[in-house]
Amino acid sequence: MKNITMLIDGQLVVATATFPVINPATGEAFAQAAAGNAAHVDAAVDAAKRAFSGWSKTPDAERQRLLHALGAALEAHMPELMELVTLETGKPLAGLNGVGAGMEVGGSIAWTHVTADLTLPVEVLQDNAEARVEIHRKPLGVVGSITPWNWPLMIAIWHVIPALRAGNTVVIKPSELSPVATARFVELANAILPPGVLNLVTGAAGSDVGPAMASHPGIAKIVFTGSTATGRKIMAAGAGNLKRLTLELGGNDAGIVLPDVDVKAVAPKLFGVTFHNNGQTCACLKRLYVHASIYEEMCAELARIAASTVVGDGLLPETQLGPIQNAMQLAKVEELAADARASGGRFLCGGKRRAGPGYFYEPTIVADLSDGSRLVDEEPFGPLLPVIKYSDVDEVIARANRSLNGLGGSIWSTDLVRAAELAQRLECGTAWVNEHGAVQPDAPFGGVKQSGIGVEFGSHGLAEYTSIQTLKIMKS
Ligand code: NAP
Repeated sequence: MKNITMLIDGQLVVATATFPVINPATGEAFAQAAAGNAAHVDAAVDAAKRAFSGWSKTPDAERQRLLHALGAALEAHMPELMELVTLETGKPLAGLNGVGAGMEVGGSIAWTHVTADLTLPVEVLQDNAEARVEIHRKPLGVVGSITPWNWPLMIAIWHVIPALRAGNTVVIKPSELSPVATARFVELANAILPPGVLNLVTGAAGSDVGPAMASHPGIAKIVFTGSTATGRKIMAAGAGNLKRLTLELGGNDAGIVLPDVDVKAVAPKLFGVTFHNNGQTCACLKRLYVHASIYEEMCAELARIAASTVVGDGLLPETQLGPIQNAMQLAKVEELAADARASGGRFLCGGKRRAGPGYFYEPTIVADLSDGSRLVDEEPFGPLLPVIKYSDVDEVIARANRSLNGLGGSIWSTDLVRAAELAQRLECGTAWVNEHGAVQPDAPFGGVKQSGIGVEFGSHGLAEYTSIQTLKIMKS
């Protein structure tokens, strides 16, 4: 049994109580984590505040060097980190289309190096006989990072590295369902960074750790990835000291397939972007609208692929999809499936939990539902896809945009010009053509409407960890 401790001011910190971390492939605990509380948050924020004065003044090139060293440390520990990610999330080491723990750790390494190389140079707005006007970017202070369970290490990296790169110090709180790989990352980072620059506080289910961070007067900004409901609570709790916020929240992304596609060629791609990580990715395709002329052929092809997909323990090399990450999410998937059945959904494959230990659910394709049914309107965050028939393209764009969310969306077609025009009519932060959910470290990513506030990645994402200081120097 692994023991996960907190890390505050460069020191490992144990708590009087612990909580179990479950391997979703077995339903049994494989680690015990320290049950922190609001007092640990206070200690971590104090340490981060003390470290800020040194870290924010550290020369840029030195901060870059240390972050590259951290990227190299992650790479040196890649097999260990992959196993931890698989044990705590259930995602396979390799996974469907290579989307698994290897990608999570590999992506974390790549994001660290690319973000380390980003810069925010001084902008000169005016430089004439009268005055020189410059825009400077300053770090904010202590950043609080609160992460979810679906991509725990990758999302921790997405939060922590740009915050540090910009000169902030950080307190991170991982999900109580998946704190293990994050704890190892923080430990590796603390062998490289000065004490207090990156601190970890873990909390059990329902603990006061997350709320204490959201309302803490010593934290200047919260970067949060998780559900829209929790995002709202964090926004309200942060009002006390007008916290800066980046909120990456839920999505219920639509994909729209035009009638000109080759069904056999496109179906495997659609299946991959929907079902990788069992659909437990914010920007997975979650509602698939298919033109009536190819609807039955597409449904049959998707069901054939789903039925041949290998579901099992993520530690086994042949596994393409692992278990659902936790019992509560499995119960939500079962509830949405039951509602879909009651609403006349035609189950083409799957539709049930696998017998035996662990939180396994068969990949499921449901035809004949429409907007207004729960499986179409709510984010399932599981291996369950509604395929919805449409006949008019303007009408289907309006249906896609009916959602309160606006994370991503996609158009699938051989006519790239028309597809790009239609993609721009989708109300979402990222619109893809013949792709869905693909992100990269230099392109901004974020949600519109109730999918979030702000963006991550690239120089746009980095700028969110800074405030602007305008400097005006009069010359006459
Ligand atoms: P969640 O239930 O909102 O939890 C996320 C984090 O918030 C956890 O660390 C949780 O701690 C913490 N938390 C809970 N209540 C809090 C409070 N009152 N104050 C401060 N922190 C609090 O989300 P999840 O179920 O882990 O993640 C799934 C959701 O995340 C989905 O909706 C998905 O779409 C979304 N997501 C979005 C993105 C994106 O980039 N837009 C990426 C990934 C996931 P505990 O676990 O300890 O309760």
